[in-house]
Amino acid sequence: MCKNQLLNRQKLNSHNVKKQKLRNFYKKSIWPSIVLFLFFIISCAAMPVSFAGIFKEYLLDSQTAVIYDDAQKAGKFLVNRMRREDESILESAAVLERYLGESNGLCVTDEDGYVLFQTGETVPDFERIQGVTAAEGYIFIPETEQGQDNAFTMTSWDFLLRCMGTLPKSYDRHRKWLDNVILRESYWTEVPAELPGLHVYYKDEVMLLQKHIYFIAVALMAEAAFLMVPIILLFINVLSSIGMQKRMVNLLYLDTSTGGNNWIYFQQKCRRILCQFRNASSTYAMVSLHMFRFEDYCACHGSREGEGLLENISSYLQVNMECGETFARFAKADFGILLRCDSDRMTEKRLKKLLAELTGVQKDRGISFCAGLYLIEPQTDGKMHEIQRRRQLDIDQIYHYASAARGMVGEKKGTHIKVFDQQILEEQLWKLKVEEQMEAALLNREFQMYLQPKYDPVTEKIVGAEALVRWISPDEGMISPNRFIPIFEENGFITRLDDYMISAVAKLQSEWKIQGKKQVPVSVNVSRANFTRTDLAQHICRLTDSYGADRSMIELELTESAFFGDKNILQQILKELKMYGFCIDMDDFGTGYSSLNSLKDLPIDVLKLDTDFFRGSDSNGRGEIVVMETIRLAKKLNMKIVAEGIEKKEQVDFLAAQGCDMIQGYYFSKPVPVSEFEKKVQEQ
Ligand code: C2E
Ligand code: CA
Ligand code: CA
Repeated sequence: MCKNQLLNRQKLNSHNVKKQKLRNFYKKSIWPSIVLFLFFIISCAAMPVSFAGIFKEYLLDSQTAVIYDDAQKAGKFLVNRMRREDESILESAAVLERYLGESNGLCVTDEDGYVLFQTGETVPDFERIQGVTAAEGYIFIPETEQGQDNAFTMTSWDFLLRCMGTLPKSYDRHRKWLDNVILRESYWTEVPAELPGLHVYYKDEVMLLQKHIYFIAVALMAEAAFLMVPIILLFINVLSSIGMQKRMVNLLYLDTSTGGNNWIYFQQKCRRILCQFRNASSTYAMVSLHMFRFEDYCACHGSREGEGLLENISSYLQVNMECGETFARFAKADFGILLRCDSDRMTEKRLKKLLAELTGVQKDRGISFCAGLYLIEPQTDGKMHEIQRRRQLDIDQIYHYASAARGMVGEKKGTHIKVFDQQILEEQLWKLKVEEQMEAALLNREFQMYLQPKYDPVTEKIVGAEALVRWISPDEGMISPNRFIPIFEENGFITRLDDYMISAVAKLQSEWKIQGKKQVPVSVNVSRANFTRTDLAQHICRLTDSYGADRSMIELELTESAFFGDKNILQQILKELKMYGFCIDMDDFGTGYSSLNSLKDLPIDVLKLDTDFFRGSDSNGRGEIVVMETIRLAKKLNMKIVAEGIEKKEQVDFLAAQGCDMIQGYYFSKPVPVSEFEKKVQEQ
């Protein structure tokens, strides 16, 4: 596995761990406060209930205590009266009855519970009757004097009247309202008088008055007011902590460069949108938007300006997003966008417009954009099944598919859009495979040198060769350079391969020399990537000299693109190479950009006319004129001419007539292994 992949995997892992931590943080931080708050509310609710209970108990107790007291007094009254007037209990009870109010009652029974005297209609429920507590004791008939007895009677009498509420009182309206009876309950109690063979019972009423309710309500309100303070404080605390956590979560979702949402938010939002029931049958497009030359822009204007640029793009995208769409910056100048997709064409059209407008907005900054698309189409019949399927989608992976499609656009100018398809995936997989295996392949000598002969068109003899690499893979067989050279050029491995090929050519030349075989010049391709090193000439010298090869027998082929770097450095390197005795070939002359100017400035020995000159029909003969004039130009500049890709006899004859020096093409020979090439040379 290559280093990049490992790094990516590590990044992905740490990304997932971060996401998990964030989720845990969110869960952990909010719930304790909420639980605490609920607990507090419940205890607050429980307190008034308990308060009401206590209050009720107290209310009842105080009322029953008064009734016990009255019962005692009634007992004393009866005993005194019986003694003083020498009356029977029934006579005394009848006297007492006259003074009792409507709500009071008296009942006298014998030992067996037989009722001897009773006021009113209700008889006490003897089983439920409560007596005065033992501590209060029973009333014994005291040996008192007449006056004292009267005084006692009067006191008891007054007290009794007062207790029974029969004394006249001046009620005002308010007082009346307060004394409204809400609940009235008869309460019998045994009178604690020692009357042998008799039991006396006394009845009064326990009442719940309006004022009691009023007091309870006031007390409750006071308690509630008292409790409100901590409740409000706790509520404020919970609110502020929720607010703080929200702010923190917002921070975690913030992309500091654009001021918009970051990638974690984007992933979550995408999943939410895609898995919504109403969206399950809609098609979505994941877009990977890339801005070209962002690094160059930052290098020229500074990173702050660069961030400003990203901010502008983010604001522009924000304005252009519709409901159920989202976007975020992925990295550097790459944005992920989730678009609702009515049809492929409409989406492409919309995206093209978006890119064109973005380019227009950033016009004076010389910046352009490209995009890759991955379509998320509903694949199952039922919405529920589709939701299940979408839950499994890896948003990152989908974005990478879109990026892979975008990568296919390359560095082309203009607003380019590419839709992801299976072929792109296969190419990506191939790229990965190549990158995984290239190091080992180089060590295992899986790269082999093939030679394509260059012929003299007149004598038809081999006068040179081009070294072309072939990858002989144990799994894949022979792999053509077109399948791996572009990948190596992208990842920089091409310089290692070029070194390997230069060494192979040098080794071959020195072997031919040692073995006394016929030596022909062999050209080898030197990629543009090599020209970043200023000591390239010395480096190539070291490689060839280590085999003791004849430098004049080695030609270095440079593609036209190499001529677009720093011209001064290139000129310097080429001068040095020539000084060391190498021949310089300009490869693929005529493709891409015109490098006529380079012919003037650079010390080139050989011009290789590209295959394109000889492809397609040339009915009006214009192609021939161009080839003719190019050959004449090269001759005038003292350069040799090699025509590439020659497959037909007429082409050979035409080129021979024009004075073309060498011909390389399938007409004579395809690239062949070294042994076969040597055989061809020997045969002639
Ligand atoms: P190139 O340098 O232009 O090489 C010529 C290519 O044209 C070779 O393809 C050759 O097989 C092909 N060719 C030659 N005659 C004909 C013909 O008559 N008809 C057709 N259709 N094709 C012809 P090949 O070997 O597949 O190499 C492709 C490209 O890969 C090369 O283009 C070169 O740019 C690159 N390459 C190959 N080997 C190396 C290498 O060792 N180092 C570097 N840097 N690049 C290499
Ligand atoms: Ca070449
Ligand atoms: Ca070529």
